[in-house]
Amino acid sequence: MHSLIAQCPACGAKNNIPLAKQHLSPRCGRCKLPLALHGQALPVPLSDSNFAPFIGGAPLPLVVDFYSPSCGPCRMLAPVLDRLAGRFWGRAIIAKLDTSRNPASAGRHQIRGVPTLLFFKNSQPVDQIVGAIPEPQLIQRVEALCG
Ligand SMILES: [Zn+2]
Repeated sequence: MHSLIAQCPACGAKNNIPLAKQHLSPRCGRCKLPLALHGQALPVPLSDSNFAPFIGGAPLPLVVDFYSPSCGPCRMLAPVLDRLAGRFWGRAIIAKLDTSRNPASAGRHQIRGVPTLLFFKNSQPVDQIVGAIPEPQLIQRVEALCG
């Protein structure tokens, strides 16, 4: 659940990539070739214990989805974020935090409702979206973050 299987296009080996390490230049364990995860990357699940260090060490612009499993709009947004993670692999990191289980990180960032998307650049919050918005608009906002 917290990793994905990426097949190496060169040697065919199946590589188990932890979701938190998708953006750290993954390489094939057998032939050492760099693995591209376009279309395969998934949102990185964060928690109160790793939220701050992950944001602080992120090598790319980052979007965090603050969600709750009991929230309907959050559940509708989830597959959109899955697609964004694959689309923006190598340019931006998509992450998610379950606010019902990780209230400290949500509180620290003054999250008042879910879903809230917080955009980070160089570890600093630079943009946010409260509520679900259509996928094309969301793509534009992430493009702007990357630009
Ligand atoms: Zn390989």
